[in-house]
Amino acid sequence: MVCFGGIHGNEPAGVQALEAVCESLEKQDMKPEQGTFIALRGNLPGLLHKVRYIDQDLNRIWRRDTMEWIRSKPAPERNREENELVELYEWVWEILEQHQPPFYFIDLHTTSSETLPFITINDAVINRKFSSLFPVPVILGIEEYLEGPLLSYINELGYVSLGFESGQHDDPEAVRCAEDFLWLSLAYSGLWPEEAFPELGQRLIRLREAAEGDHHFYEVFHRHGLEDASGFRMVRGFKSFQKVDKGKLLAHDQGQPVYMRKKGMLFMPLYQKQGEEGFFLIRRTPSWALRFSAWLRRFRFQDILVALPGVKWASKGSDTLLVDLRIARFFSKPIFHLLGFRSRRKDRTHLVLTNRERAARNPDYQGLFWFERRSTRPD
Ligand SMILES: [Zn+2]
Repeated sequence: MVCFGGIHGNEPAGVQALEAVCESLEKQDMKPEQGTFIALRGNLPGLLHKVRYIDQDLNRIWRRDTMEWIRSKPAPERNREENELVELYEWVWEILEQHQPPFYFIDLHTTSSETLPFITINDAVINRKFSSLFPVPVILGIEEYLEGPLLSYINELGYVSLGFESGQHDDPEAVRCAEDFLWLSLAYSGLWPEEAFPELGQRLIRLREAAEGDHHFYEVFHRHGLEDASGFRMVRGFKSFQKVDKGKLLAHDQGQPVYMRKKGMLFMPLYQKQGEEGFFLIRRTPSWALRFSAWLRRFRFQDILVALPGVKWASKGSDTLLVDLRIARFFSKPIFHLLGFRSRRKDRTHLVLTNRERAARNPDYQGLFWFERRSTRPD
C-alpha cells in the first residue's frame, strides 16, 4: 500500500496523518502481517512554502506525453514540480518492481471549502468495490474533467487507486479523518488483520459521523473551469455536497456573475487563489445504474459496441474507442459511463473513449474479501 500526502503543498493534513500512523506503528513495533506500507510526501517545496504549488500544479502533469519530455530534461532545466514528478515517478516504479501485487495507491488531499470527507476514483470496478468499504461518499468521473492527476496515471497501470479528501485545509478534523481512513485502509487491504487495531470500530463510526451518514456514489457532470483563478470569487459560505436552487448567485468570474443554471449539488467550490476549477456540479448515481453497469462490464459488452456504425477501436488491442458523432448520434455519455468508459472530446465530431476496465488488473485482487463481495454498497 502506497500513500501520498502533500501532493498539493497547502494540504498538510495528509502528511500529518501519515506521520501519525507511521509513528504509532513504529512505537508499537507493529510489522505488517503481509505486504509493505509506504508513505510518500509529495510536493516538498510546496509544503515548505505552504502553497498548492510553486511553478506548476504537481497533480496536473502526470500525462504520458508530457512526462516523457519532463524526464528527458536535465535536472537543472526542470522546474520545482517537474523535479518532484521525476522523483515520485522513480519511487512508484521502484516499488512496483520490488514488490508483489496486489497494490493499493492512496492520495490524500483536502479542499479549500468546507466538505464532508469523500473518496474520488476513476470508475473501474476494483476501485468501486474497494471504496465502497468506507462509510463516505464516492465521486466518480472527476478524471474526465482533469488533465494529468497522479491517480489517473496509476489507474491506467491497472491498480486500485483512491483519492481521499479528508476535509477543509486548516480543519484539525481533516487530519483525524485522514488518519481514520488510513487505519481502515491498512486493515481492508489485508496488511494487518482487523483484530490488530482494536480501535478500528470506533474509527469507522467516527468517519461515518463525519460524512453525516452519506455513502452514496455521485457523478461529476459539470466543471466550471478557470482561465485565471485570481479573477474568480466564490460567494462566501458554500460547501461541497450543498444542494443549491436554480438561479442562485454562486460566484463572480472575471467580473461576470455566475448563477446556478438548474437545481443541483455543488462540489468543491474554490476558496483559494490557486486552482484550475471554480467549482463542480455532481448528481447521485442510482444504485440500479451501479449494479447494471457492473453486470454489463462483466460480459464485456463493449466488444459488441464496435460492431455498430461510427464506433471503432483507436488501434488494435487498445483500450480506446473512437466514436464518430456524425454517425453514432444515438450515443450519449451516460451509456459509455455505464460501460466503464470515460470520454473526452477529440474534436467537433469525435469522442475518444478510454475503457478503465480493460486496464484493470482484476486477477491481482481475485479472492480478496472485498473483491468477491457482490454489493458495491457498504454494509
Ligand atoms: Zn489537493
